[in-house]
Amino acid sequence: MNKNHQGTTVAEPKKQSHHTQTETIPRPPVSAENAAPFYINEEQLLLAMHATNDGLWDWNLETDEVYYSPSWKSMLGYKESELGNTLDTWATLVHVEDKDRILEKAHNYIEGCVDSFHVEMRMNHKEGHPVFVLSRGYLVTREPDGKPVRLVGTHVDITKQKKAQLFDDQHARILEMIATGSPAPNIYDAIALMYEGRYPGMRCSMLELHGDRLMHGGAPSLPKEYCDAVNGLKFGSDVGSCGTSTFTGERVLVEDIETDPKWEKLKHAALKHGLRCCWSEPIMDSSGSVLGAFRMYYNHPGLPNEQESNDLRSAARLTSIVMERDHSQKRIQKLAYTDEVTGLASRANFYQKLEKSIKISDRYERRFALLYVDLDNFKSINDSLGHDAGDIVLKTISERIESTIRDIDYIARIGGDEFCVLIEEVGDDCAALVAQRCLESVSDPIELSSRKFIPTCSIGIAHYPDDGEDLSTLMKTADTSLYAAKENGKNQYAFYKQELTHKAEYRFQVEHYLREAIEKQQLSLVYQPQVDIQTGKVFGVEALSRWNHPELGQVPPTDFIATAERIGMIKPLSEWVLDTACRQAVAWKQQGHTNLQMSVNISPIHFLDKDIVSLVKRIIEETGIAPEELSLEVTESVVQTNPENLAIFHDLKKLGIQLAIDDFGTGYSSLASLKHLEVDYFKIDKYFIDDMLIDNKGLLLVSSMIEMGHKLGYKIIAEGVETSEQLNILKGMNCEAIQGYLFSKPGHPDEISKLLNNSFKV
Ligand code: C2E
Ligand code: CA
Ligand code: CA
Repeated sequence: MNKNHQGTTVAEPKKQSHHTQTETIPRPPVSAENAAPFYINEEQLLLAMHATNDGLWDWNLETDEVYYSPSWKSMLGYKESELGNTLDTWATLVHVEDKDRILEKAHNYIEGCVDSFHVEMRMNHKEGHPVFVLSRGYLVTREPDGKPVRLVGTHVDITKQKKAQLFDDQHARILEMIATGSPAPNIYDAIALMYEGRYPGMRCSMLELHGDRLMHGGAPSLPKEYCDAVNGLKFGSDVGSCGTSTFTGERVLVEDIETDPKWEKLKHAALKHGLRCCWSEPIMDSSGSVLGAFRMYYNHPGLPNEQESNDLRSAARLTSIVMERDHSQKRIQKLAYTDEVTGLASRANFYQKLEKSIKISDRYERRFALLYVDLDNFKSINDSLGHDAGDIVLKTISERIESTIRDIDYIARIGGDEFCVLIEEVGDDCAALVAQRCLESVSDPIELSSRKFIPTCSIGIAHYPDDGEDLSTLMKTADTSLYAAKENGKNQYAFYKQELTHKAEYRFQVEHYLREAIEKQQLSLVYQPQVDIQTGKVFGVEALSRWNHPELGQVPPTDFIATAERIGMIKPLSEWVLDTACRQAVAWKQQGHTNLQMSVNISPIHFLDKDIVSLVKRIIEETGIAPEELSLEVTESVVQTNPENLAIFHDLKKLGIQLAIDDFGTGYSSLASLKHLEVDYFKIDKYFIDDMLIDNKGLLLVSSMIEMGHKLGYKIIAEGVETSEQLNILKGMNCEAIQGYLFSKPGHPDEISKLLNNSFKV
């Protein structure tokens, strides 16, 4: 065995390791007797290494000093003097993700667990880009103990091969993405990243030409602000590199964005993000039309070298395959999924959407409505005026229907003169409302061949899941409803469930006529006596609204009050009731019925309105009623602890009027708020009075309510008392007053006048 001057032995070469195909210098044999027949001297080895362009390193395992040769350093862009001779130098330059793996391999080799040291790693070049390095090492041991003292090795720059391999891999991956139909934007990004990986510092982007506008295609490494600035620009001979290249169909190389006149208008946006040169290659389809442009940028001025120039062309070519395919797919999609005449979704498209809505509504337990719209008498238009006129009508109608629905709803032309509308998340009201609006908007006159005519349509409505749980059932039920609408005389809608149609029609009629009735004061008031339970005397009356419509008949107050609230007519209604009731009270007083209290119901919505106090004040002044003779009844729902709410009670009380909580026990007033309330009466709802006779619990409930009311200082009026049995029980509970059919139904003023001096038997 050859010894060197330090008394160390260089590990001898073995034939071929079974671990790796590449050439390695293996560890020394365990005993000297097994030594192979030839040895090299350490100096010879170093000399041999020096002879190559490879970097050399020599790691002293005892001191962790490392010798790095000048070519080792220059491989990473450093001068001889710039890097120190410690293991730390390597540790700071190696890619963080590779460092631990390499150290582990080195230790395994030193410890003898593996018999070669042969690794690839990424190192950071002084200028920031990665350098791929192949590192091989050889152990130097000390004789006679065989202890490893140095690891000596080489660095070879394999960046080129690595990048070529990476590029090939990415290229293959992109072809695979094209073949498997990945979305175009994903492929655009992959192409840009592939070229960026090949040239440190380069940034790539693609623009698509839409008409005469440049639209963003892909630019994974460019800032969004810059992409936004370019997106939508009109192409032209002075619109940066790509505006020009798409305009002329020629490659445009701009060496310096700062000074090139083509960039005059745009350079601000580019320079702001450090972009200095831009090379743009038009992307052409197979017939030679320009589809867009591929751009390469650097942060320094410059022109492409030969390889960059070739790559610019290849990149544009590759992108063109993707872009062309994308365009034709979109065209096919558009043909299949849009209706040509109206531009609406087609039947196929609608079915897809419907399936999706069924899935989602099923998952979230939602309802949706399907409106099946069919034009009335469309055939006669087509027959008499021709198909062009028919198309104009279809287009106009589709626009009109579209304008009545919300953004989230969906409309399609199903065929001929049939449209479908999908309304997401609805109650019955909503579908009827949309249908009603459709009927109205469709029936605006259209002028055709200087003739005016009024189109109408019929609409069938079905609900998911009520009327069908799958696509075909739902379409069928909507169609059946449509048939019903046609049968009933056209120009109307029909629900699949007939009672819903009647309900909706009735609701709309009530709405329609109520507006008129309130404006023209066609309502009337009846009055129901309130009787003192001790004396049997009528001490007050409650004013109740009545509406007798010539067509609709008697509409129950609960119906029209709720409608008035919904259509925003409750304030004028309340005002009329207050005014009429107060005038009646004053009239009775003038007839000698003194000390009569007039109770008026105020709907919660109106009660919480800030104007209520001034309205009541004005009515008192205008009618001349004594404030203490007016009582307002509000339901429990307005009773809440919030200060604004309590303030209204306070302000009304300051006017000197009486206040009553109506339907006490049926709402959900917070018990906490009761103690703050400034009211005079609790009215116990008929429900409890009826319940009282049924079982002991009902009885207990009423007596507790009365007791609680009393303890809080309120008087009690029991409502809906119909029998003397109820009267007697209530009397026994010290209830103050009774209102109910037992004494009188609500009646017209003349009838009630006769009762006002009565004493009922109590
Ligand atoms: P309410 O304020 O609880 O009025 C009492 C209702 O009970 C009245 O019904 C009255 O006729 C009925 N009633 C009274 N005693 C008996 C009885 O012994 N047996 C039966 N079966 N019923 C009895 P009406 O007039 O149909 O009013 C219903 C509701 O409509 C009222 O309930 C009130 O909430 C509302 N309302 C009526 N008029 C107006 C009004 O002018 N303004 C407002 N905001 N609401 C009103
Ligand atoms: Ca009432
Ligand atoms: Ca009531």
